[in-house]
Amino acid sequence: MKKKFALALAAFMMMGTLAACGSTNTNENAGSAADGTSTTSAVDAIKEKGEIVMLTNAAFPPFEYLADDGSVQGVDVEIAQAVADKLGVELKIVDMDFDPIVNSLKAGKGDFAAAGMTITEERLKQVDFSDEYVTSSQVVVVRADSKLEGDKAAIDAALSGKNIAVQTGTTGDWYAAGEEETGSTIKDANVLQYKSATEAALYLINGKADAVIIDQKPAEAIVATNEGKLKILDTKLTDEEYAFAIQKGQDDLKAVINEVIAEYKGDKVDELITKHMGA
Ligand code: GLN
Repeated sequence: MKKKFALALAAFMMMGTLAACGSTNTNENAGSAADGTSTTSAVDAIKEKGEIVMLTNAAFPPFEYLADDGSVQGVDVEIAQAVADKLGVELKIVDMDFDPIVNSLKAGKGDFAAAGMTITEERLKQVDFSDEYVTSSQVVVVRADSKLEGDKAAIDAALSGKNIAVQTGTTGDWYAAGEEETGSTIKDANVLQYKSATEAALYLINGKADAVIIDQKPAEAIVATNEGKLKILDTKLTDEEYAFAIQKGQDDLKAVINEVIAEYKGDKVDELITKHMGA
């Protein structure tokens, strides 16, 4: 049974490879696919519009946050600006809740999503991802006086049945819910879903939640702004990679984004993280 599945999967993956070759050819013959139907280049359409639209949730410092002047700033914004500059167009940012971003992108409400978004199997069914530019983890934030400690298995066991605050639709949300894909072994937690990690942290401070599960850097930013009240446990729950999401099949746009990401990945991204952690 298992073997049969593995074979089917291998065949499916091979089909994917063949399809990928096909779409490369399509791009070379700009405008018409092998079967004669007309295709539009995502990059041409963006240049024609004169703007590229980024979908994000500006409550995820240092990757995106609202500055004092009300503008959206952060690591993702700087990388996105470099993509816009490369294409010679304006960058337009749409700030929305995190949860519906993938669906909105799929529906064409933006050209790409840059939101500290983790590459997951679930999301790959809906959209494509660029190359990754940041590695991250889910971590546990607790009140400063908490005695909670131990390895991942011990933390998962301790959090089972507890009140865990998360940001809706994030990998932290899925981890708290004990979803298998995340590697979580948490059972029957009462998952309290909030629109932002900042809001989730408030419920931890006021005692309604026992823990918050969120991404490493936003956790650090939140702990720093709530001086002395919260702390992050050393144990990391997951290993994740952030990438920009784009609509399926827009390989020309993906290539431009990947060129920019290749320039930024490593030192430049690290510098941006330091710069925006301080902001
Ligand atoms: N990295 C997490 C995810 O992709 C959280 C992202 C976010 O809240 N902006 O689900």
